[in-house]
Amino acid sequence: MIQELHQKLITKEISATELARDYLRRIEEKNPVLNAFITVAEKEALKQAEKVDKKIANGDEISLLAGIPVAIKDVIMTEGIKTTAGSKILENYIAPYDATAAKKIKDAGAVILGKNNCDEFAMGSSTENSAFGPTKNPHDLARVPGGTSGGSSCAVAADLSVYSLGTDTGGSVRQPAAFCGVVGLKPTYGSVSRYGLIADASSLDQIGPLTKNVADAKIVFDMIKGKDEKDATSVSLKHKNIKTLKQKDSLAGFKIGIPQEYFIKGIDAEVEIAVREVIEKVRELGAEIIEVSLPYTEYALAVYYIIQPAEASANLARFDGIRYGNRGITRNTTLNYADKLIDVYKKTRAEFLGDEVKRRIMLGTYALSAGYYDAYYKKAGQVRTLIRKDFKKVFDKVDILLTPTTPTPAFKLGEKTNDPLTMYLEDIFTVPANLSGVPAMSLPCSKTKTGLPIGVQLIAPWFNEDALFEVGERLEKSNL
Ligand code: GLN
Repeated sequence: MIQELHQKLITKEISATELARDYLRRIEEKNPVLNAFITVAEKEALKQAEKVDKKIANGDEISLLAGIPVAIKDVIMTEGIKTTAGSKILENYIAPYDATAAKKIKDAGAVILGKNNCDEFAMGSSTENSAFGPTKNPHDLARVPGGTSGGSSCAVAADLSVYSLGTDTGGSVRQPAAFCGVVGLKPTYGSVSRYGLIADASSLDQIGPLTKNVADAKIVFDMIKGKDEKDATSVSLKHKNIKTLKQKDSLAGFKIGIPQEYFIKGIDAEVEIAVREVIEKVRELGAEIIEVSLPYTEYALAVYYIIQPAEASANLARFDGIRYGNRGITRNTTLNYADKLIDVYKKTRAEFLGDEVKRRIMLGTYALSAGYYDAYYKKAGQVRTLIRKDFKKVFDKVDILLTPTTPTPAFKLGEKTNDPLTMYLEDIFTVPANLSGVPAMSLPCSKTKTGLPIGVQLIAPWFNEDALFEVGERLEKSNL
């Protein structure tokens, strides 16, 4: 899609301005129902499109992403544009600088259409935790688009943007991609700079693209990856042991592992059938299928829900109404100031943070507290190492793993909001990749009888994103 649009731009079949207007028109028409965007940056988008058109008119060379309309999840800072993190506490916050990933695509000439709706501070699995109302699934308006990058997956699926930048801490790119029938990549931890990303859980967060196909995911990933001196955890990519396949439409020579722990009781029957069909497909394409085991998978969700809240509780301390965010003031009836500093904190956080965020802060501070640190946080860290070792071992045997992305297709709006635990279960197949840092990608593989998309997940060894693209593209071509 990006390559074709690029071709049309440089051959002047369409102009960047026309393309931007086309997308803005569709957003205007559909966003009131879908609610995929919190902010539409029409003026900025048209200005950027005009710049690209001038370059083309001058005969200058342009990047593949120049003039291509994109949407960005609202936890990623974009200079001069409101960046809310889906929270009331930041409802008027204008980002003073660009996140590195946003800057990279902007410098390439990307046309930023606006900011996507998301669960507050990227906590949730359905985008229902946004302070700005839920996003709808374009395949069925009564259902959720997934979360937390639900606005981003919806925008791509409904063609309100060509691609989006989302973030994935425990599945937030891959799960909404699966629910909306688009491609979603969580890169290797450290391969994309987190500078300018409003932190959820710093040791898990990664920015990743949501796209209409695998080729686009590769283009965007190549543009945003790389070492950034502003993020000490970012690294230059060192691809190791990549098997490049010789034949374009074959997987001969590839070893694909099927981890038994990802085909558990409780998984939706249609999802299981669809993923088993993909396994048959990769076999037909010549891959060797190997049954494998990642025994510590069963602890991944429990470990995630200690580490994520712990890190998030520390990261969110800055939203206190003083350093950042709206301020709740307990006013003295005659004098216009707070009685006590503690009251400012209390009022601010009580008033401007949502229930799920408060729940995570409480869980996190509890797990980190002096009496419980060893029992919870330290233990979770130790088990995390075992989960990582599982992957290390299995990748001695196979090139890539293939699993369902989610246990179910998109669920109904409101179906899980009163039961946080069932909501957390949504992440069961996605969190292991974040805990261990390996790259993973979801791509659409089938639909349920009622027309809901189903996603399949590919997981590769550290820094082997290319393996995901190689296998993903072949699956796509074989009309998955
Ligand atoms: N659903 C998970 C959570 O609520 C993952 C969120 C994410 O990846 N940002 O924490």
